[in-house]
Amino acid sequence: RGLKMYFPIYTGLLRRHTGDVKAVDGVSFDIMPGETLGLVGESGCGKSTVGRALLRLYEITGGNVVINGTDIATLGPEALRKARPQMQMVFQDPQASLNPRMTLADIIGEPLDEHTDWNSDRKLARVYELMDAVGLNRRFANRFPHEFSGGQRQRIGIARALALNPRFIVCDEPIAALDVSIQAQVVNLLEDLQDKLGLTYLFISHDLSMVRHIADRVAVMYLGRIAELSPRDALYARPLHPYAEALLSAVPEPDPTLARARQRIILQGDVPSPANPPKGCNFCTRCPKAFDLCRRVKPELAEVEPGRFVACHLFSDTAAAGSTGASEAK
Ligand code: SF4
Ligand code: MG
Repeated sequence: RGLKMYFPIYTGLLRRHTGDVKAVDGVSFDIMPGETLGLVGESGCGKSTVGRALLRLYEITGGNVVINGTDIATLGPEALRKARPQMQMVFQDPQASLNPRMTLADIIGEPLDEHTDWNSDRKLARVYELMDAVGLNRRFANRFPHEFSGGQRQRIGIARALALNPRFIVCDEPIAALDVSIQAQVVNLLEDLQDKLGLTYLFISHDLSMVRHIADRVAVMYLGRIAELSPRDALYARPLHPYAEALLSAVPEPDPTLARARQRIILQGDVPSPANPPKGCNFCTRCPKAFDLCRRVKPELAEVEPGRFVACHLFSDTAAAGSTGASEAK
């Protein structure tokens, strides 16, 4: 609710605090148990920062992150340590996130060292169970990360994320570093695990076709804010927010009746700096539909059709007065 992540800018020899990069600037949404929420947008829009903030990998500048009734944003170090097992992360680059000097068994078992007092037999049994779950042969337990392919390394990362039986997993571009031929395998694995273990995912990606495949609902971010949050099919068939419309116009449309009606929208100009976002709507400098009000007043995310949330003045007539976010979203 109202999540903010600002990073201070220091300039000059005296390192004076001269401003903030507003990487995430007031983001609100819900994720339902067992759901996959896709989070999309161009690089630099703040989607990875949202994912990391949800797991409190950063100190949060403002807002609340309530997971199973606990506000993660305000927990002290010990309470946070206790809350960690229920929320985990799968990273983009398995190569960079695995310690090259640790064996696969040590890597996967590391969270057990930190959060349990299990003996080595019990830990190894759990490591084997996890290797089975992600399709890694038990014979590999004493090998090192460099002996594996990218897809296998991502399976190692997933096994480690599962070690403590999390409920919620942030997948940050989990397939972006993989060969296209491997991507579907890893996505299928994530889907299987979700079904079997009842997992809830935030799936961060710039691959709009993959998000269409895996997500139940999708949030589109632009410059630190959510432009639109809609059920997957509704969004891809008929995006409402002008930015979502432009972003999705680049996605190949498999349905020929929809494809004919769709025109590629090329946006003019660059994304403004998050240190100095536009007044009013943050998309007003590039929006083909901008009008006077857009440059003065920031549109809030509001439900404009059942289950569809849009931050745009074009929809403010139909927006439910006073609605501020995704609280009623299903
Ligand atoms: Fe475009 Fe205005 Fe809507 Fe922003 S509020 S997306 S500038 S029409
Ligand atoms: Mg990213």
